[in-house]
Amino acid sequence: MKRFATKTIHAGLEADPTTGAIMTPVYLTSTYVQEAPGKHKGYDYARTNHPTRQALEKNLAALEEGTYGLAFASGMAATSTVLLAFNAGDHVVCGKDVYGGTYRVFTKVFERFGVKFSFVNVHHLTEIRSAILPETKLLWIETPSNPLLHITDIPEAVEIAHKKKVLVAVDNTFATPALQNPLALGADFVVHSTTKYLGGHSDVVGGAVVTRNEEWYQKLKFLQNAVGAVPGPLDCFLVLRGIKTLSVRMERHCASAQRIAEFLSKHPEVERVYYPGLTSHPEHVIAKRQMRGYGGMVSFELKGDVQRALKMLSLTKIFSLAESLGGVESLIGHPASMTHASIPKEEREKAGLKDSLIRLSVGIEDVDDLIEDLDQAIKK
Ligand SMILES: *Cc1c(COP(=O)(O)O)cnc(C)c1O
Repeated sequence: MKRFATKTIHAGLEADPTTGAIMTPVYLTSTYVQEAPGKHKGYDYARTNHPTRQALEKNLAALEEGTYGLAFASGMAATSTVLLAFNAGDHVVCGKDVYGGTYRVFTKVFERFGVKFSFVNVHHLTEIRSAILPETKLLWIETPSNPLLHITDIPEAVEIAHKKKVLVAVDNTFATPALQNPLALGADFVVHSTTKYLGGHSDVVGGAVVTRNEEWYQKLKFLQNAVGAVPGPLDCFLVLRGIKTLSVRMERHCASAQRIAEFLSKHPEVERVYYPGLTSHPEHVIAKRQMRGYGGMVSFELKGDVQRALKMLSLTKIFSLAESLGGVESLIGHPASMTHASIPKEEREKAGLKDSLIRLSVGIEDVDDLIEDLDQAIKK
């Protein structure tokens, strides 16, 4: 069982031994009866582990070509638990163009505990090189980045970091393991918001970390239990169910996003399109090398002022104006006031994120309906 689509449906999963149920059971219990103190069937308390989470963790490890998976209550819980393994005085180099909540927890929470951060354009490898200090312990990359869809060359970034004994974490939420496997490209940790493509149906919030490193797995497993930002059985069930269709959904997301990016590129009212599948994208060649598809996210700027962009956001009929991404339904969003509002305007602009930028999460509806919807909203 080594091909991706087969793994999504079968890896880590087996029929329930007591009933034969093909779907992973959901045991709504907080505790498990023990025969004698410490003598039990592998589960004692549901924060520490439960069967649905264990199945999900095995499945995620297989999808990401890792050895160990850890599931969390949200993407932010996954990110925070990785950071909790570091100490006051440690330094982290992080991409400038990252999820707003990642920037927020780094600067507003972990800085208070003495962890230091530098935010640089990680897709320019020279900026990584010059940001690494003697106390740097971690390089944090999002590729494709959010919302400008920059691509960082993972093997090159890893080589620079590992030479200086710096670990590399890649937030693989946008690409998903269907399109990119950072561990196979040398990264030490893969982080996910399973809320997005892995869950895929906008009905659950979750997160994950996958690694091949036994020592780091033990550290993170300790923190997962000690800190306790863990998902319940029903949440794990929903993510597992979503993952079963990941392969087919990603094919459609990619094909439709490519069509939409090409449509927008030719549109007379559109100033600029950001999509790694366009040959005009500055890192297209890198994306082609390290990804198996370019994903379902497309960002663009309309001609005219910010007001024009804001107006368009409320004129689409199929694209819903909403936070989040990666579900079957198409969403439209305004990063400057929504997902990235927690980054100060000055910092946003330095990262190239204009207030007029519009971000699309292209769903799996009929692409011609999606294109007509965008066209009528742009023209109004
Ligand atoms: C949504 C998101 C997160 C945070 O995940 P939650 O599940 O919302 O906590 C982190 N990284 C990226 C790239 C995201 O899109």
